[in-house]
Amino acid sequence: MPPEAKPLFPVQLVGAGPGAADLLTLRAARAVEGAQALLYDALVGEEILAMAPQACLKIQTGKRAGRPSMRQETINRLMIRLARRGLRVVRLKGGDPSIFGRVGEEAQALRLHGLAAEIVPGVTAACAAAAQFGLPLTHRGVARRVVMTTATTQDGELALDWAAASDPEATLAIYMGARAAPEIARRLIAAGRSPLTPVAIVENASSPGANLNRTTLAQQAVAAPMRAGAGPAILLVGEALAASASWPSDAGLEALPGAA
Ligand code: SAH
Repeated sequence: MPPEAKPLFPVQLVGAGPGAADLLTLRAARAVEGAQALLYDALVGEEILAMAPQACLKIQTGKRAGRPSMRQETINRLMIRLARRGLRVVRLKGGDPSIFGRVGEEAQALRLHGLAAEIVPGVTAACAAAAQFGLPLTHRGVARRVVMTTATTQDGELALDWAAASDPEATLAIYMGARAAPEIARRLIAAGRSPLTPVAIVENASSPGANLNRTTLAQQAVAAPMRAGAGPAILLVGEALAASASWPSDAGLEALPGAA
């Protein structure tokens, strides 16, 4: 059989979870252990990378807010070139690849070049953050929807469906929004969400250095923006958060107008 006719492996688009190696799925761990070429995002931790075989080609593709990263076209081209050489290519992404992970674009690029894509799910940041601090995202009679969203800035304007976000029965999990948290809180209040709505900002979920900041929309609206260079952080907003035993009944009240 001529070399170009040899069967190619599907490229695996794998969720690495929020950081901790023991939050990898077994399927993801097996993919990493079998990789011959690993293209990984900046949020993927050392311990997970160390699971790849010694001989595995490891390429960092960046993708951390505010820092230089490889262009998407370059990543696509690399994946395609390596897979065409007959290598087992693993594209490793933080969290779940289908949530703000460009999985659709990458799978489509592979398909256009006649390569198959296999997607391996991962624990997304919202679930890892909620689990670590015992925060429910839904709660019977309180929150029946979870909205995973991002508040991106377009032309200096924060873009989010504010009307949908004001739904009191929805828990919002806002990715890439920590730096804009005060502005987001002001917009949510303006859209009709109660100023007393609990807010949790979780930084570095799943790592030992994880940090939870419990607050309310009113308190967050007047807070200083998060400092740059901090770890990845997710913003959770909703009444369900206070339904946990770990949520003090007076969290955030001190910042409310009129509070002693
Ligand atoms: N696919 C990823 C999200 C990628 S977008 C997932 O499913 O989790 C990157 C954003 O995810 C970060 O800006 C931050 O908002 C969030 N994030 C990723 N890892 C995180 C972590 N360990 N702790 C808190 N937030 C995290």
